Amino acid sequence: MGPSHVAPPATDMLDRSRFPVDEWALTESRYSAHDLGTTESVFAVGNGYLGLRGNVEEGRDSHTHGTFINGFHETWPIQHAEEAYGFARVGQTIVNAPDAKVIRLYVDDEPLLLSIADLLEYERTLDFRDGVLRREILWRTPGGKRVRIRSSRMVSFTQKHLAILTFEVTLLDDHAPVTISSQILNRQDGEDEYHVRAKAMGEGVDPRKAEQLDRRVLVPEHHSGDGDRGRVYLGYRCAESGMTLAVAASHRLETENERTVHVQTADDLAKVVYNVEAQPGVPITLTKIVAYHTSRGVPARELLDRCDRTLDRTCEQGVEQERADQRAWLDAFWARSDVEIPGQPEVQQAVRWNLFQVIQASARAEGQGIPAKGVTGSGYGGHYFWDTEVYVMPFLTYTTPRAARNALRFRYMLLDAARRRARQLAQKGALFPWRTINGEEASAYYAAGTAQYHIDADIAYALSKYVGATGDVDFLNREAIDILVETARLWADLGFWRNEENGSFHIHSVTGPDEYTTVVNDNLYTNVLARQNLRRAAEAVRTMSERDPEAYEQLVRRLDLRESEVREWERAAEGMSIPFDEHLGIHPQDSHFLEREMWDLANTPMSKRPLLLNYHPLVIYRFQVLKQADVVLALFLQGEAFTAQQKRRNFEYYDPITTGDSTLSAVVQSIMAAEVGYHDLALRYFLSALYVDLADRHSNTSDGVHVASTGGVWSALASGFGGFRDQGDGRWSIDPRLPDAWESLTYRLTLRGTRVRVTVRPAELEMCVEHGDHRLTFDVRGEEVVVAPGEPVVVALKDQGPRLSGEPSSPAGTLRADGTVISAIVPSGE
Ligand code: BGC
Repeated sequence: MGPSHVAPPATDMLDRSRFPVDEWALTESRYSAHDLGTTESVFAVGNGYLGLRGNVEEGRDSHTHGTFINGFHETWPIQHAEEAYGFARVGQTIVNAPDAKVIRLYVDDEPLLLSIADLLEYERTLDFRDGVLRREILWRTPGGKRVRIRSSRMVSFTQKHLAILTFEVTLLDDHAPVTISSQILNRQDGEDEYHVRAKAMGEGVDPRKAEQLDRRVLVPEHHSGDGDRGRVYLGYRCAESGMTLAVAASHRLETENERTVHVQTADDLAKVVYNVEAQPGVPITLTKIVAYHTSRGVPARELLDRCDRTLDRTCEQGVEQERADQRAWLDAFWARSDVEIPGQPEVQQAVRWNLFQVIQASARAEGQGIPAKGVTGSGYGGHYFWDTEVYVMPFLTYTTPRAARNALRFRYMLLDAARRRARQLAQKGALFPWRTINGEEASAYYAAGTAQYHIDADIAYALSKYVGATGDVDFLNREAIDILVETARLWADLGFWRNEENGSFHIHSVTGPDEYTTVVNDNLYTNVLARQNLRRAAEAVRTMSERDPEAYEQLVRRLDLRESEVREWERAAEGMSIPFDEHLGIHPQDSHFLEREMWDLANTPMSKRPLLLNYHPLVIYRFQVLKQADVVLALFLQGEAFTAQQKRRNFEYYDPITTGDSTLSAVVQSIMAAEVGYHDLALRYFLSALYVDLADRHSNTSDGVHVASTGGVWSALASGFGGFRDQGDGRWSIDPRLPDAWESLTYRLTLRGTRVRVTVRPAELEMCVEHGDHRLTFDVRGEEVVVAPGEPVVVALKDQGPRLSGEPSSPAGTLRADGTVISAIVPSGE
């Protein structure tokens, strides 16, 4: 693999002898104990509320055991070595919940331990169509008996609190005593049953991992078992946050063999143990139905009743029905969200894996945010970032608007906390936390945290797109408009006028998306997005006052809104400073950016990458070097604000100095490379994003799936190659860039409740309504194209946009406007 700031060659990145190509599944055909962290993440199953890592059933071999419930967290006081006013105080960390995945198997009293077992056959498959993870192994016991073990695991999309596990054992050659011990094990946050701290719970200094809590987090409140029904229960309360959790499992064992059962529960363990006199060829089938319920206020005792209700209902309906419901749910998901790339089975498989991850992270998040790692790992402490609004929301808005609305309502629920935070920072309006679970700012490092005020504009951006795409004015007028107003107030108050008369409006001391340059003046991205935020807020308020005077009156009273404020937002937007360097023809990332020297990435050894793990922040901040797309992201999100020439020059300047140390970068680089005409480069960036987790390209997939990147994969397909742009107010355009190697690309967009299928081919674009009854109008390269139900349209394409060969080279050595040379070095102190 080459240096990571250079997009990798466009090759398949998976070992196909182990992960064979299958367009609808991820299959592992050989067990390996060497990359368990990665496979636990990529084989995780979840529904946005509950997530089970792809840990082996037997429990012991693992990188990190993980069961996560979105938003279920512990709090702790952040201790700053040096205090200052307004620093984040309340640490929040997702709790590794009691593990109900554990099903241990003993044959002739010998435990099955995958890492040392003689495995004659092994296959594990995550099926994207029915959402079930299945494993089938053939084990030769130390005593020489062959045992077939088939198991499955599913987290339900239709029943938020439910997981279903099955475990089937058949002896092939000889009879033997078989013990199956099905457990719910509370490992106390990363400690396994042998009291070894799991590595991914925060060892070392990697800021991307979760903090480690060194005391008992889950206080036991209840344990019990009901032998007749094979049901066991555990209940807990988080010591500090007070959140409560109950988990229960119902068991059913089917076999013609003789068997006995006993149930045992204690504070941290509940188990149902079956001893079976197994005869060859006679299967033993265990079905384990699991329910998790959590709460901020309800006692664990009451949650146990809720678990019972979930389990009773499921037992009544039967597992087959749950599976059928799951399949139907996913059929509908794929019908509205699938992206098809015929003739590219490897890419197709990885695309579907990525889209499946987005929905696993968000489908049932309901009332919670979407964590950076979804529910697949504890990385970033289970926190919510701007990742949701900028990277995940586009996919949801245009394919599953219900989930997009939930994510926005979650932000709405945090508005009071955001108002309080703004006051702490001496501002009007609301300032959303950079990272959080419960609404309080949890970023202890303000320079790359709280200073990212752009989170406000990102939320406003996602909200405007959602309303424009769905027409959900009711949600806007009843609730969400408060977000637009309070964020606009923040910008109007944070920024200031230089020269009041015809002057310009500036925003100082903020950090843009690129975390390798912090606390700067007039960050281009922030100013561009804040301008949009101010405009959208003013428009929304004015439209409301015309069309829904009653709602407007309520708004005025609720928020004490004055007409003069709205005028001020419009003026600030108009006067927003958008610095441009005439000499270089680019937009400086911030007002001092071009004064810096450049980091010589080409001569930085891989052992020093990523920079954030090898250099003090100050060293990095001093240079022109980017962790992730910043100006280039603004070019995408606010394309209408830049000329084609500006886009190209900016892309060419910034691309070579972007490390891509954040996985939030490659998808954006792909989209803009495609737009400006670097077709090959666009594909290479796309593939590098596509395989971020599947090929563990950032060496930290063990901490969980990079959900922002998985959402970005959809944007790179629909907006990058597919050329889709949403300019707001029901104006949509399509200007495709099909990769040379692809025969076609099909994606779907749900706009105003109507679903359009868009197919890009080398010489034409086809659109047809798949569902719904609206006529939709698109701008296809300047031509107005109407697509209506029953009236598919085909538009001829003379090309796939501009074409530039190669890739931009480093701007080091160019002269600044003042005649000085921008030089490039690798800081070392040696
Ligand atoms: C990126 C942020 C992102 C965070 C969580 C960081 O590495 O720089 O932009 O929000 O990861 O994914």
